[in-house]
Amino acid sequence: MPGCLTLPMVGPLNVGRTVCWVGIAAGGRMDAMTTSTTVAAYAAPAAKAPLERTTIARRAVGTHDVLIDIHYAGICHSDIHQAREGWGEAIFPMVPGHEIAGVVAEVGPDVTRFAVGDRVGVGCMVDSCRECDNCAAGLEQYCDQGMVPTYNGLDKNGEPTYGGYSTRVVVDENYVLRVPDALSLAVAAPLLCAGITTYAPLRHWNAGPGKKVAIVGMGGLGHMAVKIAHALGAEVTVLSQSLRKQDDGLRLGAEHYRATSDPRTFEDLAGSLDLIVSTVSAPLDLNQYLSLLKTDGALVNVGAPEDPISLNLFSVIAGRKTLAGSMIGGIAETQEMLDFCVEHGLGAEIELITAAEINEAYERVLSSDVRYRFVIDTATI
Ligand code: NAP
Ligand code: ZN
Ligand code: ZN
Repeated sequence: MPGCLTLPMVGPLNVGRTVCWVGIAAGGRMDAMTTSTTVAAYAAPAAKAPLERTTIARRAVGTHDVLIDIHYAGICHSDIHQAREGWGEAIFPMVPGHEIAGVVAEVGPDVTRFAVGDRVGVGCMVDSCRECDNCAAGLEQYCDQGMVPTYNGLDKNGEPTYGGYSTRVVVDENYVLRVPDALSLAVAAPLLCAGITTYAPLRHWNAGPGKKVAIVGMGGLGHMAVKIAHALGAEVTVLSQSLRKQDDGLRLGAEHYRATSDPRTFEDLAGSLDLIVSTVSAPLDLNQYLSLLKTDGALVNVGAPEDPISLNLFSVIAGRKTLAGSMIGGIAETQEMLDFCVEHGLGAEIELITAAEINEAYERVLSSDVRYRFVIDTATI
């Protein structure tokens, strides 16, 4: 007989759930499906409003879904752009967070890749069409139908997606990553966005031995870019606004660290670089940075400023230079990145915070005062 039973609030996760029996399966097995799972979260109720504690509903665990107990969620600058509607109209209430690490608590009946107790991660997307050329090529982030973002999006049923600043999340197993045992969950969380967003372009544009690579901006993405580019064998230069973080940059693997506030930096490095990856969240004078490239060099923007940028096309015409962009990375490449990080002993440098500190952390990110990624201990939500 189909029916429902509401269970009491459970422990520190503050989870109230309704369990519904949907019937007896053909083989005599009774399928139990959870519905109306209510979980604690931190949300922005409206654009630019401070984030506050709330509860949200998570969908029933479908046949191919895993339910994840979230342990940690990183704070990406993209969370701030979106919570403040810097990139345009957004969906509220918004639960940001696309750097999620946790442990599988339940699996749907047809899940094959994960089991209860597995250490897992979720990045910036939770679904895509799975059929277009991009999806077929492992570039789900460029899905022709548009990927389903982990938050500030609508899922295939038209329901809003909610991100990792919460205690639990339900995700299709095909969009879940395996966190290797050698990585602590807290250190792994930022890799799900900051790690893959920098790994993918560094690989695509062949950062490696004999290549001079500059990373612009040493925040969450930038510090991972320095580590990864160094691990790939490139000669790394950090271009930061000041020399405040120079010691860290050199420790993380850079060979050179220059302040962009010093005009001599642009004179000294003119025409010397093969690849520049800009992680800067604000508009830059791209002409100035393009002048640092050798012939055929590339300037790749992963930073996503809110305002348009103007360009003198002679900055790319002279020297046959490439101005490019790159968005996160596909699911398989994200797994490859996690395994690469283990192989090279890489993880994010984090400042662990409580949920009550999220709004203060946002202000510190905005003033480039983060070393180098805030990670929320979701047990404090
Ligand atoms: P973040 O931690 O705030 O780092 C950005 C860094 O940029 C800062 O630490 C700072 O480095 C530099 N910076 C900030 N304001 C600047 C300014 N006015 N002029 C020059 N440099 C400035 O942010 P994040 O989380 O790494 O994200 C960086 C950007 O990437 C954001 O726009 C984010 O939305 C975007 N993003 C894009 C993707 C993608 O798929 N393409 C994925 C994730 C994030 P210094 O202190 O060293 O100068
Ligand atoms: Zn991000
Ligand atoms: Zn697709």
